[in-house]
Amino acid sequence: MRSLFFLFLGSLGLGSSLGAQQIQWKYDPSLHSVAEHFQTIAEEDYADALQTLGLTGSFPGEIILVGGREKLGETVQRKLPSWYAAYTLPGRRLICISTEAAADASVFRTTLRHELMHLAMANWGEATFARVPRWLHEGMAQTFAGEVWLQDRSGSLVWRALFDQLPGLHEYQDGFGAEPLHAADGYALAFAFVSRLQREYPPNFLARLYAVMGEGLSLDAALLHLTDLSLVTHEKNMREELQSLHAILQALLGHFVTLLFLLSLITVPWIILRRRRRRATLEEKWESEEEPLEGQSSLESL
Ligand SMILES: [Zn+2]
Repeated sequence: MRSLFFLFLGSLGLGSSLGAQQIQWKYDPSLHSVAEHFQTIAEEDYADALQTLGLTGSFPGEIILVGGREKLGETVQRKLPSWYAAYTLPGRRLICISTEAAADASVFRTTLRHELMHLAMANWGEATFARVPRWLHEGMAQTFAGEVWLQDRSGSLVWRALFDQLPGLHEYQDGFGAEPLHAADGYALAFAFVSRLQREYPPNFLARLYAVMGEGLSLDAALLHLTDLSLVTHEKNMREELQSLHAILQALLGHFVTLLFLLSLITVPWIILRRRRRRATLEEKWESEEEPLEGQSSLESL
C-alpha cells in the first residue's frame, strides 16, 4: 500500500527545477510525484556518496521506480528475497526501488541513500567491484545511509557476541542469502565493522580505502596499508568491542522496557514469597505467645 505521504505529494503536482543531472529516472506515470520529489535529493545524496569515496567528475546512473516488490525482481531479472526493497545493478549503473516496499518517505530516503552508495561504488570498475567482499559493499552502503538494513529482524548483536554466537564476516563474502535472520546478522556486523573503521581512522577513511582497493589491493592488504592491522585483527577487535561493558550497557538501555518487565518477572514473585514467609513467621510468633495464656487459663480453671 502506498503511504499517505506519497498520495499527498501526488495531489500537489510539484515542479522540478534541476540543473545538470547525473541520474536519469524511469517510472510509471502513477509514480511521477515520487520521482519528482526525490530527484533533487537523489542528486545531492549521490554527490555526497561520490565525495565520501573521493570521486569527482561525472558518473551517470539511472533509477527505475516500480510499484510492488514483485516488479523489482522482474525489472532487474533476478530472483530476489521477499524482503528486498531495492536492488542495484552496478554493471548497468542502475538502481531499482519499489515504492511499495519503501513506502514511508524516511524509509524511501534511507533506501535511496543506501543504493546511491552502491551506485557510487560501481565506479570501482568491474574487477575490483567483484573482488570486494559483499559484506564490505553493504557495510559501506549502510554507514552512508546511517541505518542498519534488516535491523528490525535481528536479535541483539551484543548479547549474541557475548555468548560467541555470531557468524564470521567471511560467511558473507559472496552474499547474504535469503534467510532473513542470517542476513540480518551479516548486515549488522558489516555496519559495526565499517562504522568502527570510520570512527577509529578519520578523516575520509572510506575514500582512502576505496582508492587503495581500486589500485588492486585486497581488503586485508588495504587494511594493513592504512591501519597497520590485518582484517582478522580488526574483526577480533570489533567482536571485543561488542562484548565490552559499554556495549552491554548500551544494549541494556536499548531494551530498557524489556529489562523492566524481566526484572518485575523475577522480583514480584520473590517479594510475594518474602511477604508470605514474614507473615508465617509472625503467625508462628503469635501462636507461641498465646500458648502460656492458654496454660494460665487452664490453671485458673482448676
Ligand atoms: Zn545494499
